[in-house]
Amino acid sequence: MSLNLFNTLSRSLEPFEPLNPTRSSVGMYCCGPTVYDYCHIGNFRTFVFSDLTRRTLEFRGFSVKHVMNITDVEDKILRRLRETDRSLRDFTNEYEKAFLEDLTELNCRMPHHLPRATEYMPQMIDLVAKLLKRGIAYQTPDGSVWFSISNYQGCGCRYGQLVKLNFDEMRPGERVSGDEYDKEAAADFGLWKARVPDDGDVFWPSPWGDGRPGWHLECSAMSTALLGPSFDLHLGGEDLAFPHHEDEIAQSEGALEYPVGQRFVKYWLHAAHLLVEGKKMSKSLGNFFTLRDLRSKGYSGREIRQLLLSAHYRETFNFTLEGLDGARSALSRIDECVAKLVGLAASQRGSPNADVLARFTEAMDDDLNVSRAWSVVFDWVRDQNRLLATGGVTSMKAADAVATWNRLDEVLGLGRRVEDSTPADAVALLDARTAAKQVRDFAHADALRNELKAMGWLVEDTPAGPKLKRA
Ligand code: AMP
Ligand code: ZN
Repeated sequence: MSLNLFNTLSRSLEPFEPLNPTRSSVGMYCCGPTVYDYCHIGNFRTFVFSDLTRRTLEFRGFSVKHVMNITDVEDKILRRLRETDRSLRDFTNEYEKAFLEDLTELNCRMPHHLPRATEYMPQMIDLVAKLLKRGIAYQTPDGSVWFSISNYQGCGCRYGQLVKLNFDEMRPGERVSGDEYDKEAAADFGLWKARVPDDGDVFWPSPWGDGRPGWHLECSAMSTALLGPSFDLHLGGEDLAFPHHEDEIAQSEGALEYPVGQRFVKYWLHAAHLLVEGKKMSKSLGNFFTLRDLRSKGYSGREIRQLLLSAHYRETFNFTLEGLDGARSALSRIDECVAKLVGLAASQRGSPNADVLARFTEAMDDDLNVSRAWSVVFDWVRDQNRLLATGGVTSMKAADAVATWNRLDEVLGLGRRVEDSTPADAVALLDARTAAKQVRDFAHADALRNELKAMGWLVEDTPAGPKLKRA
């Protein structure tokens, strides 16, 4: 069976076939964070989903070129920046750094490229110039440049590929308020925003005067610069399908004049939103959690990841603290089982169980059906626990089981419980070894080290004293 993914473009499940089988890797772009604050757990639902997609592709043997942009110039950033006396770079740097720390905390594989919008101005200006040249964009007297949806359609292109649109309801021709009053049609969107006094020193020169790019333009420019004019997968939260992703398609397909049959992106994947206690997260409702808020309540990145991965990505996910407690106990059930198996396996190498892997793969192939995948995992844990309880696990069987878990975990990305949960008997052996070394009984110290090794622990002598590490 092949990996099937739900493509928003066709609104159906499609087998994943790389756009260009001769290319060495599959191109995957996920819209990244707007760095003006700490990311909330809703954002991380989407980012963990993109990590799961990448890991599943890699598990299936594809090599993935993963790009996630950093939106470091945008209206929301400028609004916040005005409340400070910091420079744009200094301000966005703080949140970019926090974002990368949070991704690491959630054990997400780092994207291969994390382009910052501010570093892709020439590519953005080039896209606008191409759209102007084709007559799909127009300039207004203030120096702003707009994308004309009617001219785009006039070129035979289709606007409304990801969502069905009712153009009458978009009220073309109606004037709208604020800084958008100059555009010709309400549905037209900004490509280049002319500099206004409120922008302070945040502006770039362009052939149309000083200004800054529109958010949609940023993603078209960065994705095509790094992955080429056409690439395999584009991901984001469901709120981005319209207008952000629709506008990305329009800009790219409008500017780059693809040959018939070629498109900007082959598969569009969208994650449903995360709600908290059934409601949209908002600071005023007091139900707004950043990853850091949950960490300060004592939850680990692994527990949060386990929770975020517990539901299918196209289902709206209802976050609750009780749910997080549930994830904690589910994870500790896995941890305890894996720790026992690792202890028994010592450092022997085993081979994964083909039947378990086949069932797990089949579940993930079904549009990343994690609910089915978890039931494979928990059935496996139950079976292992049953065997462990009856003493029926030889060290070789344990090594096979550890190999099975390691393979499943390439997709789940939960890793192993870290040293702070080292079992008491291992800590006691380590203390005995330290005592033996202090009295220069090196033979006994070595014997204790070997005993620890047989239990799956390596001793590392560090300047801060000896530490235990999983073998
Ligand atoms: P932003 O930083 O607002 O540009 O959002 C970054 C990513 O998080 C985008 O892909 C959004 O679609 C996604 N996102 C925002 N809010 C939520 C939410 N409540 N649940 C899931 N994803 C979200
Ligand atoms: Zn984007």
